[in-house]
Amino acid sequence: MKNTSKSESNTPKPSSVNRRDFLKTSSLGLAFLGSSAAAPLARAQNIAGSVAGGRAKNIIFLVSDGMSAGAFSLADQFKLWKEERHTHWGMLYQQGRGRFGIMDTASRNNRVTDSAAASSAWGCGHRVDNGRINMGPNGEAYKPILAVARDAGKATGLVTTATVTHATPAGFAANVDARGDQRTIMEQYLERDYDLLMGGGFRFVRERGGNPSLVPKIEAGGYEYVRTRKELLESERKDPRLIGLFSGPHLPFEVDRLHGDGNLHETVPSLAEMSEVALRRLSSNPNGFLLQIEGARVDHAAHRNDTGGLLFDQLAFDDAVGVALKFAEERDDTLVIVTTDHGNASPGMSNGVELGNPNFLAMDRIRGSFDALTRRLDKEQSAAEVVRHIDTVFGTEISEEHAEHIVRHMRGEFEPAYSRHSPLTATLAKVMANYHDFGWIGNQHTAEYVYLNAIGPGSERVKPFTKNYEMFGLMVAAAGMERWV
Ligand SMILES: [Zn+2]
Repeated sequence: MKNTSKSESNTPKPSSVNRRDFLKTSSLGLAFLGSSAAAPLARAQNIAGSVAGGRAKNIIFLVSDGMSAGAFSLADQFKLWKEERHTHWGMLYQQGRGRFGIMDTASRNNRVTDSAAASSAWGCGHRVDNGRINMGPNGEAYKPILAVARDAGKATGLVTTATVTHATPAGFAANVDARGDQRTIMEQYLERDYDLLMGGGFRFVRERGGNPSLVPKIEAGGYEYVRTRKELLESERKDPRLIGLFSGPHLPFEVDRLHGDGNLHETVPSLAEMSEVALRRLSSNPNGFLLQIEGARVDHAAHRNDTGGLLFDQLAFDDAVGVALKFAEERDDTLVIVTTDHGNASPGMSNGVELGNPNFLAMDRIRGSFDALTRRLDKEQSAAEVVRHIDTVFGTEISEEHAEHIVRHMRGEFEPAYSRHSPLTATLAKVMANYHDFGWIGNQHTAEYVYLNAIGPGSERVKPFTKNYEMFGLMVAAAGMERWV
């Protein structure tokens, strides 16, 4: 079946394989890491007010996109140093709350997935080919979980720091053969009547390339439509219908939002702020809600080997995790899932990071992303000028000898031994590793198994080893939405 942006009425029911997988997942019942861990975990679960076997009225699915284990450890240990506490996500481990395991993230055609296939696996219960959104190999359009939740009477939402039509949010909501078709994805969101969309991506709404503006459709759909942080935070409406697009492309890296030019922290909301509004608005629906929250730019920082970009976006994601956990802890009807879709470039702290190590602490002085730095660089500059720019953006004075590596790379006098080390950002990262004790193995997604945590009703279905497509059945069963699949 060919996908069409007109309607999802042609979306077929999932195959029997999917139903089997779903039943398999839901019948597993209590799954613990090991018998010795079971008792304290169960107790902790009860303390959190999450009764095993209960029904999840609400589901919050949080994704730190492209988060290798090293990114999780970096953010957690940075938080420990700076505030003497774990990240919110780290505290789930420290306190043994909820269930946790690892997840296999492969796609249908590759051990190394992209975000489109990874989010589709969660979103429809099938592994699809990289680049596709909820589309099978023969044109099958699998009904995505946001449509399932909508049909079950729940409010539905997507919150991200990428364009709201990017692969990860789309994987819960759309059907397209090519993830890049973001205009069609936005049209599908509106036609499918989802309630709440927040992130970047105004460029896919405005009049462009012969396509008319979608703003009249947004207004006809009864949405409140906001474009700035102020409009978002000052809104007094309480219903779920909200579209907030705070940038043409992706939202800025968190480190640039906080410190960059143009007072972005005043015009662009943080992921935690968007999440807070989303939870307040969606929870006004008496039948509950399904919300995906994505920290998208962790992945983009990893592609660039940008340590500051990675650290501050991971911390911003964790603030959103804190918002979600706080919401869930005040009630007993909300399943919170925290994970990533795949690793990226497997970074890690290395070189003997002693306690109080000044290299590690130097990350606290970073005031811009690699993008903010490379905008300042050009190949005519001397090593001394490069030293000055790096000091301005990263807060660290590197040696002229190290700066020479960057100058030579910009002038084309550099040949990488490994092709994934060929961009200028890879050389920048290697130079900065001398000062931050943090390095990278490449600049692409990885096949590593990733962290998976869940807390609240339905979380008892999380197995120690989960395959990404099993999350669909887990969520459907947790919320009792089988009838609408
Ligand atoms: Zn990526």
